[in-house]
Amino acid sequence: MSTVDQNPISQYHQTIIIGCGAAGLSAAYQLHKSGFKSVLILEGSKRIGGRILTEYLDKDSLKPLEMGACWMHGIQGNPVYELAVREKFPQHTGTILSFNIGTCVDENGLQISSELHNEVDQFFESLLQDTRDLFEYQQKNNTPISSISIQKVFMEKFSNFLNSNGEDNETRSLKLKLLQRRFDQETGECGCQSMEQVSYSEFGSYQRPIGPDMEFPSGYSTLIRYLCSQIPKNWILFEQFVENILWDTDNHVKITCANGNIYECNHVICTIPLAVMKWSYKSLFTPALPTWKIEAIQKMDMGTVDKIYLFYEQLNFFNGDSLAIVYDREHDTLDIKREWFKKIFLFQKVYDNVLLCWITGDEAIFCEQLDEKHIGDVLTNLFRKSLKNPNIPTPTKVIRTQWFSNPCAKGSYSYVPVGASSCQHIHDLAKPLTAHNKSRVLFAGEHTHTRYYSTVTGAFITGQTQALQVAQQLTANNDTETLVKSITDDFNKIQWKREEPP
Ligand SMILES: Cc1cc2nc3c(=O)[nH]c(=O)nc-3n(C[C@H](O)[C@H](O)[C@H](O)COP(=O)(O)OP(=O)(O)OC[C@H]3O[C@@H](n4cnc5c(N)ncnc54)[C@H](O)[C@@H]3O)c2cc1C
Repeated sequence: MSTVDQNPISQYHQTIIIGCGAAGLSAAYQLHKSGFKSVLILEGSKRIGGRILTEYLDKDSLKPLEMGACWMHGIQGNPVYELAVREKFPQHTGTILSFNIGTCVDENGLQISSELHNEVDQFFESLLQDTRDLFEYQQKNNTPISSISIQKVFMEKFSNFLNSNGEDNETRSLKLKLLQRRFDQETGECGCQSMEQVSYSEFGSYQRPIGPDMEFPSGYSTLIRYLCSQIPKNWILFEQFVENILWDTDNHVKITCANGNIYECNHVICTIPLAVMKWSYKSLFTPALPTWKIEAIQKMDMGTVDKIYLFYEQLNFFNGDSLAIVYDREHDTLDIKREWFKKIFLFQKVYDNVLLCWITGDEAIFCEQLDEKHIGDVLTNLFRKSLKNPNIPTPTKVIRTQWFSNPCAKGSYSYVPVGASSCQHIHDLAKPLTAHNKSRVLFAGEHTHTRYYSTVTGAFITGQTQALQVAQQLTANNDTETLVKSITDDFNKIQWKREEPP
């Protein structure tokens, strides 16, 4: 694979894909299968995979550490699962990581019974299920419900639930803290700062294929490596951060990268993440985007979820597979500089000597700036206090992800905020830009799937769908000129000399 383009002058390709994550690679894989040859992927960073990034603890790649996606959500009708089965990616045989709570304590060391946290969790789950049912009802009966946040609705229902149980003040306060922990966990599922931001009426728009979550024993990058192995190596160019897409010229699209390279093509499949587009759409597109597209980019949102891995010689102090800590807070706002760690909703044992915890939103973004040793020290203090054990060692190593600071991601995954509509705005995110009656810029990526947004499955499906759209347009005969040009270009590249008879 080429890393830096040697030739800064304009290059022409039939299709250019921007981004080499799950969506971009799935599009390239589909185009290759459909027999297209003039395809180029422009990747802004130095690596493939985007928000799929597996590091390994061992040489044999059997102990993966997922920095990004980890679960393949659901199996029925999930093309990622079907591909994994068809290509015999090994299935995970061990325990699948889950958000189940093992031990639960408060930050001052009070043990919280499983009955109590289960009661709160089960109530929360039943509210989530109502929300999903509500969305399906709205869809069937075409009855839009006014936009309000999940948190607001759930707080009200939870208050009624507490009142009807006639709890004493202490139990009531503990349950509210448990509820706050559950809200924080849900920010990890949704990829947002707070459940105050997430639309109640739209929450149920998010779906997963039916069936259990799966993990690959060698990590989610197995998928990325497979897709990459199926396309020509010279299709991918690294460090080509796209800065501008000139999309309404007569018969082609012109792409300019930050390094000055210019590429021209007939169609673009843009898989730039929503958060990157939010930051750059004004300069990214020339001419300016139509208002419906701008509205979709502005209304939809993508937040930050980061992971922190803590390494130890041994994990003697950690009982069971997971630890949930509830903090002295009954509300959403934290004094970030002093209390950022109170957003961590769960610590999970991922290997005998490695813990993983999750952090979201502004607290995650703040944590991205901190020194990793400092993070280890703060969390050691938290463990010592909440597990009442002053001898807990500091971790030997800390790794935390920095998805927000990554200019090619600017966050983790998308969600539908209050005021947005999945039907309208995700649909508009996915809608192509058309010039001279042709779809010039097509959009793929997790944020463009109306039900599987935020997931690898959503990214994979949208990449494939947009590739098929391009294939359909190119083979519909009205594009024969471009086909001929790209075929001629391909011929020109072949180093071939006719042998003349003596
Ligand atoms: C911490 C975390 C945990 C997650 N857990 C799960 C999970 O368990 N299961 C699940 O299904 N999903 C999970 N996800 C979400 C999943 O990773 C994404 O939905 C999916 O990988 C997105 O794929 P994509 O192709 O749409 O975008 P990306 O993977 O982000 O690909 C976009 C590509 O475009 C490149 N790019 C960006 N801007 C430019 C530019 N201007 N020019 C050129 N290239 C550019 C990027 O470098 C990147 O390679 C998780 C994500 C994170 C961060």
